Amino acid sequence: MGGRTCPNSKCMYDEEMHAGECCPLCGAEAREFGFVALGKLLKEKWNVMKLKREEKNAEYVMKRVKFCPKCGSTDVFWASGLPQLWSTWECRKCGYRGPLILEDNKMAAKLRKDYSKKKASQ
Ligand SMILES: [Zn+2]
Ligand SMILES: [Zn+2]
Repeated sequence: MGGRTCPNSKCMYDEEMHAGECCPLCGAEAREFGFVALGKLLKEKWNVMKLKREEKNAEYVMKRVKFCPKCGSTDVFWASGLPQLWSTWECRKCGYRGPLILEDNKMAAKLRKDYSKKKASQ
């Protein structure tokens, strides 16, 4: 018992395919595999899937990184301690202190650029 599927082990497609059919993901032509070879191939494919998923997770975490709204630095920390200051953030780089925090990577990159320009012209 085996099956026919995309032979590309770097490709995530693991559905049963017809003879002569091309993989909708990578375009490789379907190949027939014996039971053992198919099992090995599927394992490799699932590894690729797992890696892709982990990559996505890492991307998501990256996007959640906090940036200083003044200089764009990631060197910000939550200045906790006093209850009335529960939402105050502090930046170690520029000394910013306030309730605002940035989570936008693109905007932070722009801020960092502007900030270093400003510093250079001073
Ligand atoms: Zn494929
Ligand atoms: Zn800052």
